[in-house]
Amino acid sequence: MLSISMDVNKYMADVMEYNNKMIEIRRKIHENPELSYNEFQTAKIIAETLRSFNINVKENVGGTGVIGLLKGTDGKTTIGLRADMDALPVLEENNVEYKSKNNGVMHACGHDAHVAMLLCAAYVLSKHRNELKGNIKFLFQPAEEDGGEGGALPMIEAGALENPHVDHVFGLHILNDFPIGTIALKPGPEMACPDSLKIMIHGKGGHGSDPANTIDPIFVGSQIINAVYGIRSRYIDQKEPVTISICSVHSGTKDNIIPDDLIMGGTVRTFNENIRSKIKKLVNDTVKNISIAYGASAEISFKDNAYPVTYNDPEITEEVVKLLSGINGIKVVDSGLLLGGEDVSRFLNKAPGTYYFLGTKNDAKGLIYSNHSSKFDVDEDYLKFGALSHIDIAMYFANK
Ligand SMILES: [Zn+2]
Ligand SMILES: [Zn+2]
Repeated sequence: MLSISMDVNKYMADVMEYNNKMIEIRRKIHENPELSYNEFQTAKIIAETLRSFNINVKENVGGTGVIGLLKGTDGKTTIGLRADMDALPVLEENNVEYKSKNNGVMHACGHDAHVAMLLCAAYVLSKHRNELKGNIKFLFQPAEEDGGEGGALPMIEAGALENPHVDHVFGLHILNDFPIGTIALKPGPEMACPDSLKIMIHGKGGHGSDPANTIDPIFVGSQIINAVYGIRSRYIDQKEPVTISICSVHSGTKDNIIPDDLIMGGTVRTFNENIRSKIKKLVNDTVKNISIAYGASAEISFKDNAYPVTYNDPEITEEVVKLLSGINGIKVVDSGLLLGGEDVSRFLNKAPGTYYFLGTKNDAKGLIYSNHSSKFDVDEDYLKFGALSHIDIAMYFANK
């Protein structure tokens, strides 16, 4: 059994010193939401706030990304704390004093709160910089909601995880699937890799009365759908969480014409890189071989920029669970597998760490709407726990 000797609650007084300011920052960003890759004002607020704490700041990292570096006393390790900062194309339906002023754009996923909590943590950590052996790198990333290219990769390519080299990355997401007072996470795979798939089948069109003189792409396509669905049930371990769905099929123009081509699209969701590549290969072989068998040809493409599986390092996560369980007022629960994808996975694949969820659903306050809803809002009284969790993790891992 692992023991965490650190008193995890000792920084709560410092968090409370900054609590009003943290909520003020959250509301300011909430009022002025910016879409993926356009987080200019948000980045400016972040950079100015970090500088006011005497933290070294780099702006425009891989786009609008901002990095703050707080140097530790020996600098032998560097811990990365990550927050995303983009909003969504959603028309806000909340009637709150901090309602979005940018019509049709809304912080409906809590990234405004992510920024505010990490800035609060930066305040407290900078105040206690003499207690930190390792460095702390604050990673504010653009475009998490993009779903494809995303903001993490351009930041990594711009050197975000070097000079100094980041050993571990940690981050958190507000999630209204979980009630106030909870932090949810799990070791190993936590969030899915959402691949999207396109299949084109080329046949030979002709008269509907004379199929023998055609290569019917609709017939070939129907065989392919059945066979592709067989992959999950016959070739993948039944205990593996996998979904394969063909969600669109387009072909043909008229009742008496056999068309030339058919196109279909779908989604493949996996939690395991080996299973993911196994399915890709099986889909490829199945589609190609069935097409050849019927005299047709096929093109298959997987959009190759899907976010990878979000993977929590098991050993580190065990320590994080112990650590966060020590916070008064917080219960750590098992998140189970989540089918969403997360750009943080790109940081975690380079610098193993943990990603966890802060519950802010509060039935009593009517804060019941899920992330991405036009009525989504967070319980601001619980942001202090998110800030404290960043601080605890940073203090523990930078002094290990
Ligand atoms: Zn989101
Ligand atoms: Zn989000």
